[in-house]
Amino acid sequence: MGTVMIRCPRTGRAIPTGIVSDRIEFRRKAVFIGRTYCAACRAEHEFFAREAWVDELDSRTASEAA
Ligand SMILES: [Zn+2]
Repeated sequence: MGTVMIRCPRTGRAIPTGIVSDRIEFRRKAVFIGRTYCAACRAEHEFFAREAWVDELDSRTASEAA
């Protein structure tokens, strides 16, 4: 599981959408449009699933801890 991230079109920064999903599960959701508040430029952005990715921080830290 990880946080769904998008690239802010104004600042180019990666911002979390607040959606948590599994990477494989997320790819199955071929088309959806989301809306998230962007802290980088203090505006709402619409995004398509294909523009987003899942940042699986948990799996990375878990493997390092083990
Ligand atoms: Zn933004």
